[in-house]
Amino acid sequence: MTTLDAPDTLLAEFGLYLDGHSVPSESGRTYESFDPYTGEPWARAADGTAADVDRAVAAARAALDGPWGALTAPARGELLRRLGTLIARDADRLAELEVRDGGKLMREMAGQVRGLPAWYSYFAGVAETTHGEVIPTDKSNYLVYTRHEPVGVVAAITPWNSPLLLLTWKLAPALAAGCTVVVKPSDYTPASTVALAELVTEAGFPPGVVNVVTGWGAGAGQALVAHPGVDKIAFTGSTATGIAVAHAAADNVARVTLELGGKSAQVVFPDADLDAAANGVVAGVFAATGQTCLAGSRLLVHESVADELVRRIVDRAERIVVGDPKAPETEMGPLSNDRQLEVVLGHFAAAREQGVTIACGGEQPDGLGGYFVRPTVLTDLPADARALTEEIFGPVLAVSTFTDEDEAVELANSTPFGLAGSVWTKDVHRAHRVAARLRAGTVWVNAYRTVAPQVPFGGVGLSGVGRENGADAIKDYTETKAVWIELSGLSRDPFTLG
Ligand code: NAD
Repeated sequence: MTTLDAPDTLLAEFGLYLDGHSVPSESGRTYESFDPYTGEPWARAADGTAADVDRAVAAARAALDGPWGALTAPARGELLRRLGTLIARDADRLAELEVRDGGKLMREMAGQVRGLPAWYSYFAGVAETTHGEVIPTDKSNYLVYTRHEPVGVVAAITPWNSPLLLLTWKLAPALAAGCTVVVKPSDYTPASTVALAELVTEAGFPPGVVNVVTGWGAGAGQALVAHPGVDKIAFTGSTATGIAVAHAAADNVARVTLELGGKSAQVVFPDADLDAAANGVVAGVFAATGQTCLAGSRLLVHESVADELVRRIVDRAERIVVGDPKAPETEMGPLSNDRQLEVVLGHFAAAREQGVTIACGGEQPDGLGGYFVRPTVLTDLPADARALTEEIFGPVLAVSTFTDEDEAVELANSTPFGLAGSVWTKDVHRAHRVAARLRAGTVWVNAYRTVAPQVPFGGVGLSGVGRENGADAIKDYTETKAVWIELSGLSRDPFTLG
């Protein structure tokens, strides 16, 4: 059984997905995946090994050298659109898998999965419109043109917070470019990725184009990024793991893009619409239980409006409905796993030790099992407070005040991260000025937490290398080849260049 059609008393089972088939690990081992709402196991996944990674990379290489490699770009685009149609058909089922595995809200996941086909159709268009160029040179006896060829076998490594969305940001451009892919989903959330791979086959992609190796712990991921048969690594996860992945990529001179963590600032000026800003700050840090790389986990607010804005945010935070992620009225579900619960509780303890004021939250709610914490707002933080400098990846907002624009920018840029940020103001001059000065891959003005297939996303500094989404994303999955055609047919002096 590879779907969620399991009766409640049985654990759903998810195998590896290799060469177009669901198969067990060569080790025969499996591990349990836990439902973060109940804290109980709900599924069992194959515990992939280095030998399974070898099988996956071999299948991906064979597909590249086989029928997939022979397809035209429009034919690949057609398959991408078909995959999008199947995802739309199965959106509820895929969303439920993510809710069971990761604890995210059904009301968010249903929309998120329904949005995925837009990525596949966008990159189908990119596949059809990407082309080489004829390049004029000073050598009149040559016709020179470029070809954009697939980089080869791609290792796609994803985290647990939005498995299918973050996989899609890699898969759609990789397939558009003509690459083949081996996916290593997070050990905590294997289910939806295996289900997506089944749809890839149903859509008509040849076997081996998309393969999935699930596995507990770092082993399968480590084997994949160190594999000499991998040409490019597309990684989303923590900064610490990203650095290890970059080292492994360097050993094989494999290409690598890294989408890592953040400590993004929401900067609120005194002329801002405070209701809108409060709403944006709540969306930025409490939606998805704060478990998004782009979480606006720092609020920088002008001192003249700080008390009023924090009052509004705390008031809303205390009314957030925390509970069953499947219930339509729930606004915040559990943290995704026990490890993350420990991390967030550790930050609550650190805040107390460092004398930080806990304006609300800072503890687990009463009466709920699973991995729940309350929405938390911290004020009066010393400059070295852990909550100001470290990514928490939970529903925890750290508030600081500023007196003028220069100080706001300095504070916003004071961490080694640079993923996202926002500016809240009605002053159009200031909006553009500050947006330009923030060190971040994305800046929203009077908004937060929105993305689209057409718009590049990624970070600077410790937040990563490269951009996903947008037409240029396909270039991370292609190699440019220059072809020189001699036109005169004459011999040349063999001892001169050109
Ligand atoms: P993680 O770094 O622990 O794991 C990410 C993935 O890497 C998982 O699949 C994991 O199994 C695998 N992995 C672990 N060790 C490995 C190794 N040595 N070699 C290869 N693979 C290895 O991250 P996580 O806890 O799953 O996710 C949370 C982190 O992801 C946060 O830091 C968050 O900010 C970041 N994130 C970033 C973005 C972005 O687009 N910038 C998006 C979502 C999440």
